Amino acid sequence: MRASQLYAPTLREVPAEAELVSHQYMLRAGLMRKSASGVYSYLPLGVRVLHKIMAIIREELDQAGAQEIMLPIVQPAELWQESGRWNEYGPEMFRLLDRHQRQFCLGPTHEEIITALVRTDVRSYKQLPLRLYQIQNKYRDEIRPRFGVIRSREFIMKDLYSFDRDESGAQASYQAMYDAYTRIFARCGLKAHPVEADTGAIGGDQSHEFMVLGDAGEDLIVFCPHCGYAANVERAECVPYDPDEESAALAKLEKIATPGITTVEELTKRLQIEPGQVIKTMIYIADGKPVAVLISGNHDVNEIKLKRALNCDQLELADAQTIATVTNAPVGFAGPVGLTIPIFADYSVTTVVNGVSGANKKDYHLRNVNINRDYTPTQILDLREARAGERCVRCGQILEEARGTEVGQVFYLGTKYSQPMKAVFLDQEGQERPFVMGCYGIGVSRTMAAIIEQHHDEDGIRWPVSVAPYSVIVVPISYKDEEQRSVAEHIYKTLTSAGIDAILDDRDERPGVKFKDADLIGYPLRITVGPKHLVDGNVELRLRSSKEQFVVPIAEIDNQVSTFLNRIGE
Ligand code: ATP
Ligand code: MG
Repeated sequence: MRASQLYAPTLREVPAEAELVSHQYMLRAGLMRKSASGVYSYLPLGVRVLHKIMAIIREELDQAGAQEIMLPIVQPAELWQESGRWNEYGPEMFRLLDRHQRQFCLGPTHEEIITALVRTDVRSYKQLPLRLYQIQNKYRDEIRPRFGVIRSREFIMKDLYSFDRDESGAQASYQAMYDAYTRIFARCGLKAHPVEADTGAIGGDQSHEFMVLGDAGEDLIVFCPHCGYAANVERAECVPYDPDEESAALAKLEKIATPGITTVEELTKRLQIEPGQVIKTMIYIADGKPVAVLISGNHDVNEIKLKRALNCDQLELADAQTIATVTNAPVGFAGPVGLTIPIFADYSVTTVVNGVSGANKKDYHLRNVNINRDYTPTQILDLREARAGERCVRCGQILEEARGTEVGQVFYLGTKYSQPMKAVFLDQEGQERPFVMGCYGIGVSRTMAAIIEQHHDEDGIRWPVSVAPYSVIVVPISYKDEEQRSVAEHIYKTLTSAGIDAILDDRDERPGVKFKDADLIGYPLRITVGPKHLVDGNVELRLRSSKEQFVVPIAEIDNQVSTFLNRIGE
């Protein structure tokens, strides 16, 4: 490729709309342009990177026994009604009507379509296991599209679905994909850490997310430096507290006037107590019925855990009217003593001795509230969001936390889709059985941005060789100079015929402009052809990542370039 013909409109200024480095560089290096909120067009350099990532994915998945297919983006509502997700999915789904007023959606994911496909064609255990994948655009009307292609509304996903005869087969598929993901991200030059995850809208029993750590990440992860346990806080388990060895004697329950004090913060300030002494009481509506949830004032309720524990479909905080009805008090004065609705207590309140809670009476709280003496929870559960400082559920050491962005996720689905959609096969005994399934996604466009987050400096992107749009750029200081031009052309042709991805900067620009563009776009190697070294039959070779420079003979250029690419590609 010649830079004079390349459609890569680079920008000197940082675009105001881009907060994150990856977003800024994707726009500045001319990899993509925004077409609408959360919708992007990719330009040639962006497409080349995407293709390289996809090639790695295809190689690894094909190795793992998977086959590539292509499913429709436009999906009929009926299939989603069969699985029960047409209503469940909510406003994130792009829905449309055809000219006959039939309902469709733009695929946010493809479990329904593939289950319907496989159930018509796959009849026997002999055809299993089956691992099918595609790489395609997905559509999700995200509430807050941001960070460029990290959270967009149209994005590229690799999604794979596994079909097995039984649980152990499905576990083997899960493990094969987990291992393939580990290799894929490593080959893309990405440090991605697997963490235990919640299964969210996809459902199922077991899941891992592959997380790229970084402060801009929207996910919070806790991990144990001691044993390696790592989990998204949506999922992370918390352990019951050990009771204090010498806990204070139980004091007499007292009502205290607290006019206008409705938050934990105000209460702790006013009473000069620690937040951990407050028994926070929240009223929720679970499938239409009010319930109370108790948690100590220094913790937050994890609503995903709560929903799972209550085994309900709909969960929301109660409105002021419901709170007034069930507690006889306005918002801010709820407490467990005397409540008649079911009470679900987090482990954290079991060790609160002589705590403070609302009195279920306007402008009053109770002091010296004690579990079992003054109130009895219906159930004591793990309901809080894990945080740094908690004890590890595996080994008891102290957890730390980090922020992260999910680049891939693997799910063990079991029969969550095959059962309701009646996708069955005949086993060895001729019995009908539902397929045991798994599904596995990688955000291809998000991965591209995540690579930039991990590989850049103040001058631009530093692509790992494996995914760089071109491996080498040849830059003559002056393309007009006859000798420089002919050497540069010669090197470019030599490299290209050796199968090396090269680009020639044949533009009539000042060297500073060419160097700036090369650094911004981030080609791993730059070969500079200039008068200084030409006299000795040499050119200068510069590594983008370390900025090291080497003088190499023109006669050895293809060998030298291969050697350097291998070295930095490891
Ligand atoms: P998130 O929690 O970030 O919204 P998700 O868990 O909903 O993601 P999955 O359904 O697991 O996403 O999709 C598989 C992969 O697709 C994710 O690991 C992520 O890399 C990518 N992905 C999901 N949503 C988006 C999006 N809005 N923009 C870009 N990539 C996305
Ligand atoms: Mg996910």
